[in-house]
Amino acid sequence: MVKTSASINLATKISKQLPPELIAFMQLAGRIAQQREQRLYLVGGVVRDLLLGRANFDLDLVLEGDAISLAQEIALVKGGKVTAHHRFGTAKLRWDNFSVDFTTARSESYPEPCALPVVKPASIKEDLFRRDFTINAMAVELSPAAYGQLLDLYGGRSDLEGKLIRVLHERSFIDDATRIWRGLRYEQRLGFELEPVTLGWLKRDMAYLDRLSGDRLRHELELVLKEECPERVLQRADQLGVLARLHPGLKGDGWLAEKFSEARRLSAPDLPSFGLYLSLLGYHLSVEEAEQLISRLRLPKLAAQALRDTINLRDELALLADPELPPSRIYFLVCGYSTPAVMANFLAGESAVARQHLGLFLRKLRYVKPALNGEALTQMGIAPGPQIKETLKQLLEARLDGKVKTRRDEESLVKRLLA
Ligand code: ATP
Ligand code: MG
Repeated sequence: MVKTSASINLATKISKQLPPELIAFMQLAGRIAQQREQRLYLVGGVVRDLLLGRANFDLDLVLEGDAISLAQEIALVKGGKVTAHHRFGTAKLRWDNFSVDFTTARSESYPEPCALPVVKPASIKEDLFRRDFTINAMAVELSPAAYGQLLDLYGGRSDLEGKLIRVLHERSFIDDATRIWRGLRYEQRLGFELEPVTLGWLKRDMAYLDRLSGDRLRHELELVLKEECPERVLQRADQLGVLARLHPGLKGDGWLAEKFSEARRLSAPDLPSFGLYLSLLGYHLSVEEAEQLISRLRLPKLAAQALRDTINLRDELALLADPELPPSRIYFLVCGYSTPAVMANFLAGESAVARQHLGLFLRKLRYVKPALNGEALTQMGIAPGPQIKETLKQLLEARLDGKVKTRRDEESLVKRLLA
């Protein structure tokens, strides 16, 4: 199955698709590596995207040799800052707004399923073999002698043409079950399909997802939620039973797809936060199920809070369903919940009136502030301490309900309160 593509050279694609600054950098790096009699390659996602004509400026370089000392030597010539990880033999070189990753070519072996691998320096051929999918396992030579030459040892180009996501060997998902989520991401992002044998292995090995640490699993979910259309990945994950492994109460259905696209409209021009997407995904969980998800994913404080608040607010939503509620009442019912939780209920709540009230809170009420502050109140003769806080709250309430409109109005209100 090993294919060679001696004739394929990507120099033209590189010159058309990458910024001149990065091209000059790669050529310099290639020259310095060649002087050291080492081979340097561009690898992984950027090679895939060069062939697909998709924008990607994340350069991953692999050296047959010590990547850290190469990065340092390049930095001496061109400037920039090197951050090295000696344990992994990797380095990041940053200059201006650019950053390039250097890795020492290595092989990996997995002493136990889903444990971190034992790595040792190896050839580019072995380095490519440790990768997740054939389409991510191609390299481009950067040494001047062979600049632009594509190294496609495992059929990556043919799988790009066939639009297939294919692992390199039968134990791939057992070694590292994060590849299951990665596979679904690429499939949906690129409009590809899992190749049938790979799909069979994925289904067979799905239970290994349960062996992943919370941190690694959460990282995969974060990556999914950074995709342009995460709902597609979640729908596919649901269909295959992968989502249920995260938590059996989760659904990737048409409802979720609709809510996710509304969340994008609501958050534009930014993308929805992790907390908002997660709160929509977990919207129908019980309090107890949400806690299970939070601990399985070892969710950090903010995200855990978003999900908890979402579910608590959902369970209190009836209080917001009264069409006669004055704005101040809406405000004080909602202001204790985190913003993603309010957004999630605005998008997903069942009562139309409650949703309207949440919309009013998000658009307007949350930004309302009295003109007078604590200092102004003290000057007007209010004793420092709890009374200030109480008066500020009364001012806010009056503002929210339109009973005061100007600083003048507020001052008269304070005088009345003092009298
Ligand atoms: P993206 O566009 O999503 O960043 P990418 O291909 O650049 O895609 P990265 O997660 O940045 O993906 O990883 C870079 C490369 O490292 C991949 O192309 C792949 O070759 C390899 N890789 C990453 N994660 C794994 C993994 N879990 N198992 C095997 N190889 C991996
Ligand atoms: Mg990448």
